[in-house]
Amino acid sequence: MKLRVLGCSTPYPRPQFPCSGYLVSSTENHILLDCGSAVFGALLEHIDPSSLSAVWISHMHPDHCGDLPALANWALNTANGPRIPVAGPETWDARLNAFISNDNKADVVADIFDVQYLQDGGTLSAGEFNLASRLVHHSVATYGVRVSDGTHTIAYSGDSGPCAALDEVADNADLFLCEAGSNEPAEYHMTAQQAHELAVRANTRRLILTHIPADAPVNKPAGQSAPSDIAYPGGEWLTSE
Ligand SMILES: [Zn+2]
Repeated sequence: MKLRVLGCSTPYPRPQFPCSGYLVSSTENHILLDCGSAVFGALLEHIDPSSLSAVWISHMHPDHCGDLPALANWALNTANGPRIPVAGPETWDARLNAFISNDNKADVVADIFDVQYLQDGGTLSAGEFNLASRLVHHSVATYGVRVSDGTHTIAYSGDSGPCAALDEVADNADLFLCEAGSNEPAEYHMTAQQAHELAVRANTRRLILTHIPADAPVNKPAGQSAPSDIAYPGGEWLTSE
């Protein structure tokens, strides 16, 4: 399995630096985890969106879903395109529909996407991948996810402060993409130090710190650290590494 970072800027995109968007791929299938502001253009650099097996949205903050209107506009303007499964927190589709439809009378989103809602403990199959979602701890309904092909697992925190569900998301993952959105311990985000402690506790093979504010210092963690990297646009990791 390959993880490709399309972007990880927060809370808004910067030049050549989209917000949250991560492509998980096999030779056959592609899953897009989050579609934050400016992600759609970065996606086009790598794949035809028609080849997406699923889109999974962690939560409805714009740095994680702000380019859904771009994905929708692509679908609306692609003749005979596939009805891609898109899974997100409840009401994601109504909010997108309110944004892109003229009068909100027609359910445009249901016409172009296979609308699905995430649930704590719920799973979704996409190609050879299984996506298992967990409700994590953030200021709005937010999910973390484990994407597995039966052999390897890529885990993604979404946005979350420390919580038991996040430990379960990370458990024994080959790659653990964990947000480090706060410089100081906070309720709704992790620090890099907390992400390292979690990665050690959960026995992850490689931690990839992401969603780091532009002004955040990247300090080497105190105490035991996990094998780790820092996400950047264009960064790629393989689970077999
Ligand atoms: Zn958020």
